[in-house]
Formats: sequence, structure tokens, C-alpha cells
Amino acid sequence: MSKDNPGFATLAIHAGAQPDPTTKARITPIYQTTAYVFDNSDHAAALFGLQQFGNIYTRIMNPTSAVLEERVAALEGGTAALATASGHGAQLLVFHNLMRPGDNFISARRLYGGSINQFGNAFKNFDWNVRWFDTADPSTMEALIDDKTKAVFIESLANPGGTFVDIAAIAEIAHRHGLPLIVDNTMASPYLIRPLEHGADIIVHSLTKFIGGHGNSMGGAIVDGGTFDWSKSGKYPMLSEPRAEYGGVVLHQAFGNFAFAIAARVLGLRDFGPSLAPMNAFLILTGVETLPLRMQRHCDNALGVAKWLKTHPKVAWVNYSGLEDDPNHALQVKYSPKGAGSVFTFGLKDGYEAGKNFVENLKLFSHLANIGDTRSLVIHPASTTHRQLSPEQQIAAGAGPDVVRLSVGIEDLSDIIADLEQALEHA
Ligand code: PLP
Repeated sequence: MSKDNPGFATLAIHAGAQPDPTTKARITPIYQTTAYVFDNSDHAAALFGLQQFGNIYTRIMNPTSAVLEERVAALEGGTAALATASGHGAQLLVFHNLMRPGDNFISARRLYGGSINQFGNAFKNFDWNVRWFDTADPSTMEALIDDKTKAVFIESLANPGGTFVDIAAIAEIAHRHGLPLIVDNTMASPYLIRPLEHGADIIVHSLTKFIGGHGNSMGGAIVDGGTFDWSKSGKYPMLSEPRAEYGGVVLHQAFGNFAFAIAARVLGLRDFGPSLAPMNAFLILTGVETLPLRMQRHCDNALGVAKWLKTHPKVAWVNYSGLEDDPNHALQVKYSPKGAGSVFTFGLKDGYEAGKNFVENLKLFSHLANIGDTRSLVIHPASTTHRQLSPEQQIAAGAGPDVVRLSVGIEDLSDIIADLEQALEHA
């Protein structure tokens, strides 16, 4: 191992972790504690005043989560990270750092449905307003930007369609307008794409998916790229103006290129409270050790499944960027040469009833609303997650009656295909 520049697989196992100094335990322990004893009153005062780093209370920081934070920051190439209870918790804290009532941000329209809800409905309660654009044409962003615009948000690989996005082109436009680019890197994971290398400033993750990887724990993360100048425009007062509750400290001045992560912790996590449970941090730390192995196998299996589906007489279309004739293939090769991810959609010729029957007849695949597990997962959006929408709305959301979404697991490819084959016979 090169000490100065360890590789990705080495970081996935070692970054942030040391044998426990007290017990010599090799694996990071689950620090199942709510609070931490102060050395004395001066020590307590220094911690509360941000003059010294250290543990106070598990809502704000925890030693098991701290190892996970360092690990995720290292994998993404960021300056610091903050772990949260879920991906949605991470998104809330990112926008809380940036937005004031009446502000807006620009977001890709192709997003995980839960994020569409969070941005379009819940954030409205804070008077934070989202403006949607189509990532297929990044130039459409520009007309939406005004002096109340605070950020641009995209998914590097969009859920559910599995579409790659031109991160560098979008970053260039955002930066030209003095805006940070926030990238949800959940679907790709840093094994496939490191968005900070393409111009992103902040990364968010649902650790619930590929990073944890085993379908057993919710979690989220914010990674600070350390690239954005929060003081330049005066548009980000949370970072660039004195904070009375911390004795007038200016976070960007005091913490420089990891001020965003600090603000998310000492203002967002402290006050909203979506903290990661230490047990979940432990499980996700165990999961992330095998991220490179799992992710490559997910991609290889998904490509095998997509190629096989394409030849099946009952399948109308397959939307997988890894296929050479896919319209998104060039972006996949540019941004994610190791593979096209595990999640994609395909359509059945016989529509709604066929989709429902197909899903019900799968045996190895689990029918559930999640992605990124070792197990193969399936959902028929029109009869489940999107059933409340009109037929027109379902089609616009990429959830028409014929659409099936797969999250291809890491089982034997021959077993995955055998299961799909027997279920298609019933469809
Ligand atoms: N981002 C993406 C791409 C997702 O798929 C999800 C959940 O499915 C989220 C964010 C939200 O994450 P969580 O469920 O951990 O809150």
C-alpha cells in the first residue's frame, strides 16, 4: 500500500479507522452512548464554543459515525463529511446551510421520487422553492437562475431510469453564475463516479443503498468538496456571517475548506436532529469495506441481464446506459467507464397486467421499494409507488403501465436470469 496515496479499495477498508486505543479492538466499536464526560468546566466551555473539537452529545457527533464520515469523505475525495439518519436527512441539512425563505434552487427533473416530493412539497413549508430543468439540455438551467437562486442539484446517475448526467457541463454553468453544484451520488457510489473531480462542490448520499449495501440500515451523508468560496457573494450568510450562539464565530473564516460540513453539523444536525444511530454507522462501515467488489459485480450482472432482456420476445424495450446502442451510452463511458450501475427499467409488451404478473411470479427477486441491496430487487411502479398518479403523470414520471424497475443484485448471473425467464413465461 502506498502510504501517501492509497487506492480506492484500501480506503474502503481503512480510511478513518484505527484499532481502538483503549481495548485494542481491531474493528471500530459501536459507541452506544448518548453523551461524553468533560475533563473539566473549561474543556466543556471550549467544546461548546467551537474552540476545540471533541464529543459532546450523540445528536451532534459520535465516534463510530466519525469513522464512517472520514471513510466516505476519503472515498469521495472531499475535505470532510457528516453522517445523517437518512439520505433525506442529508438533503435537508444541505439546503438549510444555503437557503433563506423566498430563495430558490435549480434541480434536475430526473430524480428519485422521494426527492421530488421533498423539494416540491416539504421544502415549500420553509418557502424554499425548486425550479426544475431537464438534464438532457443543461443550457435550459440558465433561464431559471435569478438573484434568489442559491444552488443547483442533480443526481450523477438518475433513479429510476439509470441515466448519466453531464456533470462537468452543469458545473460550468452553475459556477459561471456563482452557484455551488450539489450532486446526489447514491446510485453511482464513488466507486463508479467521483463528482468532485468533475466540478461538483457538495455530495449527498443515501448510505441506505450501495454504500451500506446489504439492505439493513438507513443512513445518509454530506461530503464537503472544500471547493466553493462561501464568502465571495454574500449570498450564504450562514457560512459568511458571525454566529451569535457561537460567540460571533464566522464559520467560513474559522473552518475554511470544511466550513460547509461544520455548518451542517453545528447548525443543521444540532437543531433538526436527524443523527445516524451508532449501530447503523457500524453496519454501514462493515458494508462499505466491500463496496468496490460489490459495485463491480452489480454492474457486470446488470449488463448481463440487460443484454439478455433485450433479446426476449415479451420485452418491448430496455433502458440501460451500459448497452452500446443506448442513447445515454456515451455519457456512461465518459463518466463511469467501470460500468453503468445496477438499477434500470425495461418495458413489457403486454403492459400493466403483464407487469404485475411478472413481479408476482419472481422468486429470487424481492418485490420491494429499495435499491442497492446485495439481493436482486424489483418493483412495478405503476401498481405500487406511482399508483396514485394519473396515467399521463405515470408516463411523465417514467412509471408507465409497462415499466418494471430492477436493482440487479450480486447473486450468480445464471440464477438471476433463470428467475426472470420463469417469471416472464407467466407475464
Ligand atoms: N437519493 C436517491 C437517489 C435515492 O434512491 C434515495 C432513496 O431511495 C434517497 C436519495 C433518499 O434516501 P433515504 O431513503 O436514505 O432517505
